[in-house]
Amino acid sequence: MHRILVFIFLVLSVSGFSQDHSHVMGRKLNFPDIPGYKTLKCDFHQHTVFSDGSVWPDIRVQEALLDGLDAISLTEHLEYQPHKDDIPHPDRNRSYDIAINEAGAHDLIIVKGSEITRKMPPGHNNAIFLSDPNKLLVDDSIQVFREAKKQGAFTFWNHPNWTPQRKDGMATLTDVHRLLIREKLLDGIEVANDQTFSIEALQIALDNNLTIMGNSDIHKLIDWDFKVDKGGHRPITLVFAKERTAESIKDGMMNRRTVAVYKDLLIGRDEFLIPLIESSLKVTAAKYIGKYNVLGVEIENLSSTDITLQNQTGYTLHNNNDMILLKAGEKTTIEVKTIERKPDVSLKFLVLSAVNAPNKHPSITIKTAVEETKQ
Ligand SMILES: [Zn+2]
Ligand SMILES: [Zn+2]
Repeated sequence: MHRILVFIFLVLSVSGFSQDHSHVMGRKLNFPDIPGYKTLKCDFHQHTVFSDGSVWPDIRVQEALLDGLDAISLTEHLEYQPHKDDIPHPDRNRSYDIAINEAGAHDLIIVKGSEITRKMPPGHNNAIFLSDPNKLLVDDSIQVFREAKKQGAFTFWNHPNWTPQRKDGMATLTDVHRLLIREKLLDGIEVANDQTFSIEALQIALDNNLTIMGNSDIHKLIDWDFKVDKGGHRPITLVFAKERTAESIKDGMMNRRTVAVYKDLLIGRDEFLIPLIESSLKVTAAKYIGKYNVLGVEIENLSSTDITLQNQTGYTLHNNNDMILLKAGEKTTIEVKTIERKPDVSLKFLVLSAVNAPNKHPSITIKTAVEETKQ
């Protein structure tokens, strides 16, 4: 018995060792902190059997742990309860209670939330950081937001591009949404939901100072819907928070400090998008190649998303046209023809895989000293 235990211990520690030294990114999502804030990975729109989802809440917790998320919310439809004959659901806190119990010893923040499920307008909206979702079972579709706000909730407009409610897929603000925004009853909007991205929703966020969000809206399994085995991942909201607490996440969201991640697209305001991308790209070497005046700049992409840059350095490149793909978790060398040898460089790129407005891309600058090499 003792020998078997020792053997198992050895196997586990050896496999742990090889994992630590692997340079291939695992499924856990990575996004580095930015100056002044922690970068927290969140998915605030998910379903379980307690509304129209297909799994028990513990599975959502396990999926989030596999993806390395910091916070989730299970946002069951308050008004749409197709499983209620099999699973009576008089207490709308139940999904949260099971999830928080499962999260127990794990380091995952669970935020209490609900999906307010109405016809358009106002369509579907989530309220998170609630204290008691039962109190949101009211008929009036404006009053329900007032009740959520009374509980200190953060509210956001879900999938404004959802074709069953918006046939042409064009997210469009209605008078009801204008009223909600004016009365400070609506804080955010999903620009990415499940398998869709809405550039119109991004414009609505910018025009109305709403928090930019991306969420999975998962009903079945994350692995199946987002093809995790093929390197896919769910949409998430990165929240820039002072601390890794629910309170601090709420503060970040109330103050619009987010970037949404959808496939390999980063969506946000320059104020957070630029530091996120600059923190994700680390220069690991910068030296002239042999005796020539071609500078090799090796850049490691520390994030879980591929980053595509367009050259705006003012120099031409030796090993690329103007487009550079920096693969997630990998090191890539860019060869820059600086004409003469420089002691340091400041290289400007347009980030084609990020948007700060419809079809507008942020610019980043990579500054580095050049290692001395013999000419
Ligand atoms: Zn919905
Ligand atoms: Zn939903």
